[in-house]
Amino acid sequence: MEGDFLKFFRNKKIIEKITKRIWEEAKNIENIKIMHVCGTHEWTITHFGIRSLLPNNIKVIAGPGCPVCVTPASEIDAMANLSLEKNVIITTFGDVFRVPGLKTSLMEAKAMGGEIRIVYSISESIEIAKKVNKEVVHFSIGFETTAPTTALEILKNPPENFSTFVTHKLIPPAMEFLLKQGCKIDGFICPGHVSTIIGVKPYRKLAEIYKKPMVIAGFEPLDIMIGILNLIIQIKEGEYSVYNEYSRAVKEEGNIEALKIMEEVFECNNSWWRGIGLIENSGLKLKKEFENFDASKKFNINSIKEENFMPKDCRCGDVLKGEIMPEECPLFGKSCNPIHPIGPCMVSIEGACSIVYKHLIKIL
Ligand code: SF4
Repeated sequence: MEGDFLKFFRNKKIIEKITKRIWEEAKNIENIKIMHVCGTHEWTITHFGIRSLLPNNIKVIAGPGCPVCVTPASEIDAMANLSLEKNVIITTFGDVFRVPGLKTSLMEAKAMGGEIRIVYSISESIEIAKKVNKEVVHFSIGFETTAPTTALEILKNPPENFSTFVTHKLIPPAMEFLLKQGCKIDGFICPGHVSTIIGVKPYRKLAEIYKKPMVIAGFEPLDIMIGILNLIIQIKEGEYSVYNEYSRAVKEEGNIEALKIMEEVFECNNSWWRGIGLIENSGLKLKKEFENFDASKKFNINSIKEENFMPKDCRCGDVLKGEIMPEECPLFGKSCNPIHPIGPCMVSIEGACSIVYKHLIKIL
């Protein structure tokens, strides 16, 4: 069954037809810049060479769709400090481990004696807490896709020695921020996974206010190509609706249960996005009634002061805002590569630089 599904969404003949339509529709129109906001979309686009199928006037760029990339360096430092100075066990996802902080990465903190453990889920972290006599802090990063899991585990009342440093972020406010800043974006491919949670409604508001067409797309090549075609047609016709191409997974109202749990546990706050800036109401924090599990309260982690730190000459901020392609960073593939990453976009598997680099190496 899965094989049939993949055959359909990767069917060469259908993709050739859509490609032809894209070329026809793109004739005689000005340059169009389409932004996607999802690391998995970047992977599909790069892995299947979708950019090479498009006419020169249609550009698809990556946006701030990698949660690890946009996590402030100072928050990484805060976790490293906890492990080194307060003898706390920090649990986190593998992707965050090597991202440079202001002073140190978590990997370096571990080398200095900090107890940092890589986990696959917050529930694994809670299991660790049940077995040890030390404080355990889970570094909860991620967008609307992972936030419901954090909320669910908090509602299950974890042990007293467990808390979480929540830095969950919300995608629609980041999209709005880029539009408000005047970034040249003609249309969005909205993130598929995030959309399964939030549904279609939040994008409708943005499309209407900023007059930008949007497509919620799945992760197969055909999904992306249909999405691009739809956006080109909308842009040509001067329309700005939200087309749900991924209706096999995304419902108009989203995942009502997940949204309810998130609302019960979190409230919105202003949040720093590394390389981008402070975005109003784009973050989540635990509500007061759950502050026993809030590591920022438990360990008095003060508000993050230095936010936009990027290593010298690193252009991750511009990559995340869709201003340049990863290859346009002067460090790309030279001093910055996945073995020796300089910026966060080369560390995370969802980072645009890392994805493009790995595929370029295959081509070479
Ligand atoms: S190539 Fe490296 S330094 Fe340049 S933008 Fe990407 S991650 Fe940052």
